[in-house]
Amino acid sequence: GPERPRVTVALTFDHDGISSSVEHDLGPFDRSRGEFGVRVGVPRILDVLARHNVPATFFVPGHTAVTFPQSVAAIVGAGHELGCHGWAHEDVARLDEAAERGILARSREAIRAAAGGVAPVGYRAPYWSLAERTLALVEEAGFVYDSSLAWDDYYLARVRHGDVHTAERSVLGESGRLVEVPISHQLDDWPHFEPIRGGNGAAAPSAVEEVWLAELRYAHARAPGGVVTYTMHPECIGRGSRIAMLERLIVAARELPGVAFERLDTTVARWVAVHGG
Ligand code: ZN
Repeated sequence: GPERPRVTVALTFDHDGISSSVEHDLGPFDRSRGEFGVRVGVPRILDVLARHNVPATFFVPGHTAVTFPQSVAAIVGAGHELGCHGWAHEDVARLDEAAERGILARSREAIRAAAGGVAPVGYRAPYWSLAERTLALVEEAGFVYDSSLAWDDYYLARVRHGDVHTAERSVLGESGRLVEVPISHQLDDWPHFEPIRGGNGAAAPSAVEEVWLAELRYAHARAPGGVVTYTMHPECIGRGSRIAMLERLIVAARELPGVAFERLDTTVARWVAVHGG
């Protein structure tokens, strides 16, 4: 059967480009920060990944795919996975169901086209914001996995549908087919490094490196078969001080026996093979 790493490291990049700035009708400065991710961040990321032979996953809004096709083609050409991330980075919890269905279908088609006809199997909600119906729609649309929930740190599980929550009690629903790859703000670059739009400031890369590496070392010691999923944004991690930190993290991870870097589609396919389709 497929070999099983002791711990898998998933480097994931949300290639938001200028989509959220456009969606929020922000001006040239905010768009320029997103454009930094396209012009500078992604090339630096691809360089580091290539030099260390690390495959990765990029969640790409449809807006980025059609606005910056060369950037996305470079990612695909380097052998990385594309996942869906909305069209214009919409907060789907604010949309009605018909609008959300439309965006899901249109963005899936744009990412399929950008990947040379390979349909994406992964979805990540912009802002990790979900309507109650969202993950059922994602499953119904044919995705294999989602990566927007924080209910675990290292282990994959099936998404539940049909929870009913009231102040009196919550009744939990049944698991569906969709596989969840859990995420965390702690392992997200944005809250540590960005001073605006949901971030707290400008942490020292060494401080973030300490937390991120400690999570990996803990998983390596205590969570065999686990997956450590880092969420990064090209306009954030692409700054010199931070991309250097990412490279140190890759080098340190490689020193731990049995650690493998994988695209999430690879990791999820192995998990499904073990746990049943
Ligand atoms: Zn995003």
